[in-house]
Amino acid sequence: MAVFSRCSTAATAAAKPTAAAATFSYLIRALSPSFSSSSSTLDPETDLNRNKPAALGVLKREPKGRNVQWVFLGCPGVGKGTYASRLSNLLGVPHIATGDLVRDELASSGSLSSQLKEIVNQGKLVSDEIIIDLLSKRLEMGEAKGESGFILDGFPRTVRQAEILEGVTDIDLVINLKLREEALLAKCLGRRICSECGGNYNVASIDIKADNGRPGMYMAPLPPPPQCASKLITRPDDTEEVVKQRLRIYQAMTRPVEDFYRSRGKLLEFDLPGGIPESWSKLLRALNLEDHDDKQSAAA
Ligand code: ADP
Repeated sequence: MAVFSRCSTAATAAAKPTAAAATFSYLIRALSPSFSSSSSTLDPETDLNRNKPAALGVLKREPKGRNVQWVFLGCPGVGKGTYASRLSNLLGVPHIATGDLVRDELASSGSLSSQLKEIVNQGKLVSDEIIIDLLSKRLEMGEAKGESGFILDGFPRTVRQAEILEGVTDIDLVINLKLREEALLAKCLGRRICSECGGNYNVASIDIKADNGRPGMYMAPLPPPPQCASKLITRPDDTEEVVKQRLRIYQAMTRPVEDFYRSRGKLLEFDLPGGIPESWSKLLRALNLEDHDDKQSAAA
């Protein structure tokens, strides 16, 4: 209770910020040593609202002018980055992936780098303090550039992170992407990144046969364009052993975050029916953004 109620008080007293611009300083303050860790505020049994959150109605009316504050949840390999990045292009808000912030830090020669390398390459979570510090700096940089709104990907990943975020800003929608378990490992192992442009591709061809009344599922590879083909690299934490560890950690640490947002009526469950061609238009429909059809190609 301590974290959530104290953060809420701090945020309310400061007339709750509505844009990313105002968020970072509260994140830093929320992580000051006087805040202790707790996840006891959760009551996952209350109001398990599986309907569309109310925020979607607002979007339908004013999709362009609104600076959305959204979160993407979902297991490693589900495609959070792919869909968050497309929506970011479509809605004109920054896509902020904490995994990218961690990788940027790893690539730097900063003092944190070697400490992070060990944690990330074992598939473990970075401490809440470090991740919030990285996120705060990213938001601060965005503020300087005049950014507002965000689509967060990979944050929050613990109930404590969710409590802190909820205390300092108004998240209006959390999209929980879900994909059949059989596909997750293969998707992670097939992931490739262009070392030059940073583009994300996937060489896995997933073909799950229909079984016991469950339909089959096909996900085509996402091949790189010719100019990237010879520059592909694999993330060091995308090995079978580490991906399995990340999936276990997701179940233990991040699954409860779904309940956190579900109980607050903010969670939109979205079962991916297949690859991008099958899923993208359905996702837009689920988000009441289907009248952005003409802009769909621009988001790709
Ligand atoms: P994934 O494919 O598992 O979703 P990400 O690219 O989001 O991976 O994150 C890569 C790694 O960065 C994670 O395994 C973890 O070590 C670290 N990380 C990213 N976001 C967080 C977070 N919110 N809290 C703690 N660690 C994080």
